[in-house]
Amino acid sequence: MNEHSDVIVVGGGPCGSFTALNLGKLGAKVTVFEEHSQIGVPCHCAGHLSIKGLKRLGLYPLPKGIVENTFKGAVFHSPKGKNLTVKFANPITCVVNRASFDKYLADKAEKAEAHYFLSSRVESLIIKNNFVKGVKVKHNGKTENFTADIVVDAEGISSKILRQTGLTALNSRMLVNAVQANVENVKDVEPDMVEVFLGKNYAPGFYAWLIPQKDGKAKVGLAAKTGNPKDFLRKLIRKHPTASKKLGKAKLLHAAFHPITLGGPIPKTYSNGFLAVGDVASQAKPTTGGGVIFGLNCARIAAEVAYDALKQKNFSSKFLSNYQKRYNKILDFDVKVMLKLRKMLDALSDNKIDEAISFCGKLGLDKTIQGMEDIDFQGRSLLRSLPKPRMLAALFYFFSLQILKTPRQN
Ligand SMILES: Cc1cc2nc3c(=O)[nH]c(=O)nc-3n(C[C@H](O)[C@H](O)[C@H](O)COP(=O)(O)OP(=O)(O)OC[C@H]3O[C@@H](n4cnc5c(N)ncnc54)[C@H](O)[C@@H]3O)c2cc1C
Repeated sequence: MNEHSDVIVVGGGPCGSFTALNLGKLGAKVTVFEEHSQIGVPCHCAGHLSIKGLKRLGLYPLPKGIVENTFKGAVFHSPKGKNLTVKFANPITCVVNRASFDKYLADKAEKAEAHYFLSSRVESLIIKNNFVKGVKVKHNGKTENFTADIVVDAEGISSKILRQTGLTALNSRMLVNAVQANVENVKDVEPDMVEVFLGKNYAPGFYAWLIPQKDGKAKVGLAAKTGNPKDFLRKLIRKHPTASKKLGKAKLLHAAFHPITLGGPIPKTYSNGFLAVGDVASQAKPTTGGGVIFGLNCARIAAEVAYDALKQKNFSSKFLSNYQKRYNKILDFDVKVMLKLRKMLDALSDNKIDEAISFCGKLGLDKTIQGMEDIDFQGRSLLRSLPKPRMLAALFYFFSLQILKTPRQN
């Protein structure tokens, strides 16, 4: 008979480990099951994170070796090769080695007494009288039962465990398919700027990115709503007026494929004895798909609410709904704004993106960005910069692009 845990966490990704770390610090007995034999491997994520977001979580500076580079801003490229540079005085983002970052969080959780089982796949939930009571785990070739007062589901996008509770899983129509590759021999990049390539012709429904590391190395990726992202990435490298100059001679070392969720949080992330955190709950930014900072914020709240539930011995859905109430206070407004921005971007034709990037450059929008460094909470960032005349003009222009759509959209 396995020992009973206060909380079982499904998945040793960043959100699972951060939940375990926070619960461990509070004194709860936590068990984490990770299906892979190594934390952080395989890795599918670019690991581009905001420094402010990490600082708010008490995770920055990170130990040596995890941060691969830092960035002061971004260069946005239109399909015809026009560009808009948005640069701040100091670094606002960093790129981390995601495998090392995940391992760092898991090590911290283990130091806080969380117990990890690797190569241990949670096959299903144990549900009794409508309450989640534990999990069935396959490890060492056999399936065993593990019980807990609360199960925190941090399984990522697959949502197989979540579906067993009857909760609605993330909206598959709001997924984009992504490819992420490490490359060598990249030319013509500013080492402290990330690059974003927009346009339906190259990345329908999303964009491509180039994140410089050191010594001509970079992470390159692309996501698309339809078609094979690797084919689109090849096309970008061969045909895009600026990407082809930067990446034309680059060597693709390793490519990983994984979906990105853009639909905003699922409607309900709790039930009796159960909480969902991270990608499984679609707690990612609808504009960029960045899910690490949002997910970690939610993981911390999940840990605090689960701990309160343990103290009060109340594992009811009603009590655990405090989790969603609390993270909605932080995310709700920004997610709503980002969903609108995503819709707006999706509706723009490639010609309009070209026009918009030229217009923003002429307007001097690149110089109107003080106060917009908060790339996690983009709704609030936008609100702060609204009183600036250039920003108002740009927004007016973007909205007019929506209304005055050209008859032929590409
Ligand atoms: C190509 C790409 C690039 C991205 N780039 C960025 C970026 O630059 N910045 C950013 O913020 N976000 C980025 N994201 C999103 C980011 O990767 C996710 O938001 C983040 O990983 C979510 O963390 P998580 O812990 O919820 O899930 P995951 O990181 O997916 O971790 C889930 C873990 O659960 C394990 N697991 C699953 N099922 C089971 C089971 N049944 N039993 C046991 N273990 C299980 C998995 O093996 C995995 O380790 C990117 C995503 C993609 C696809």
